[in-house]
Amino acid sequence: MSRRGYTLRWTCAHEGCREQYYSVVDYKADYQAAWKRQSEKPWRCLRHDGRGDVLSPTNTCVRTEVPMTVMYHRQFWDRHGFVHGPGFKAWADDFPEGATLIVTAEVVLPAAGDVRDGGQS
Ligand SMILES: [Zn+2]
Repeated sequence: MSRRGYTLRWTCAHEGCREQYYSVVDYKADYQAAWKRQSEKPWRCLRHDGRGDVLSPTNTCVRTEVPMTVMYHRQFWDRHGFVHGPGFKAWADDFPEGATLIVTAEVVLPAAGDVRDGGQS
């Protein structure tokens, strides 16, 4: 018979947000540690985590620099040997040590007069 584990369920701490976090951990110590972290820094969803990387009509461009790190004679972008996104793939080992990956995402807004409601009306 398997154990049920310990259920973690939180609502985003941003006022008015209803996003939910849900996870099940196997051990009581992990459950207690999660609740300690939650009491010290309440969970926020991706939209409200405060990193400033959410694209919106008032924040149409974000740029991220990922420096290369070297561990165990291997190269990584942050902690990943390979990263990808829309329009690119990059293996860290393909570049010289010390390279920096710069990713830019930009949303181009429609010209005035071309604005549609996006189905949200
Ligand atoms: Zn939220």
